[in-house]
Amino acid sequence: MARAAARLAENASGDFFVDDACIDCETCRHIAPSLFARSARAGMSVVARQPQSDAERLRAKMALVACPTSAIGSVSKADVREAVDAFPEPIDSGVHYCGFAAEGSYGASSYLIVRPGGNVLVDSPRAAAPLMDRIERLGGVAFMFLSHRDDVADHAKYAQRFGCTRILAAADREAGTRDVERFVEGDEPVALAHDLLAIPVPGHTRGSLALLYAGRYLFTGDHLWGSERGDALGASRSVCWYSWAEQTRSLERLLAFDFEWVLPGHGGRFHGTSTGARAALEGLLARIRRSG
Ligand code: SF4
Repeated sequence: MARAAARLAENASGDFFVDDACIDCETCRHIAPSLFARSARAGMSVVARQPQSDAERLRAKMALVACPTSAIGSVSKADVREAVDAFPEPIDSGVHYCGFAAEGSYGASSYLIVRPGGNVLVDSPRAAAPLMDRIERLGGVAFMFLSHRDDVADHAKYAQRFGCTRILAAADREAGTRDVERFVEGDEPVALAHDLLAIPVPGHTRGSLALLYAGRYLFTGDHLWGSERGDALGASRSVCWYSWAEQTRSLERLLAFDFEWVLPGHGGRFHGTSTGARAALEGLLARIRRSG
């Protein structure tokens, strides 16, 4: 629970606040971008503006619920039941955002795909009972796709509850993931089902994987993300733990695939036409080449 005594000085005065447990994961800024902002001095998020309407209060409460470190609080102890029930939040055609970020995944976004062939959980949300119950009502989890070793958090609890097949690149296997049911080997794309393609994208980590669903939705972990305004694509050498040269080659290989959405672990979402997505990827690669 957030502590009013640890409220950051930059918070706008009023009910909602962020305390010093913030890990700057960006979750709140994506859920309620008009209410939360980053304080450069603190290197953390703060409430930039208090919510004014019921709709804004709901977004603030959804950020509170999703925060991985319980760094967001409400002096009035706002009732968050509606915010809890808002997750998983529909994005498009059966694709949902899970909220309930896990500190063990550094607050990375996770997603639920509701599909006839069995639902897919992409990366691990917090194993919060209300979220797991909602996922169960949506049909449970058949597959848990783990984009890379950093975003696995509560994977074992989801596997235990839903009996799902977890999928991870063999190159990112660690002690905590040795029991994963299916490891993807090598650098060639692997069809997991007729509408699910695992695409190795080494770079951020040796075993980073992207998941292409239905030829439209590309789940990218920490390999690729949308810009703040959602009109461009980004990737960064500063958060590349394995090889920037490999990551650049992996980005180039994505030019062979059509997709309309980029749904990342960290960073913004991108949505456009497949032509627009290709142009955005080419634009990113051009910027990378110019920067050397
Ligand atoms: S969601 Fe929580 S931890 Fe993440 S940036 Fe916001 S306040 Fe900080």
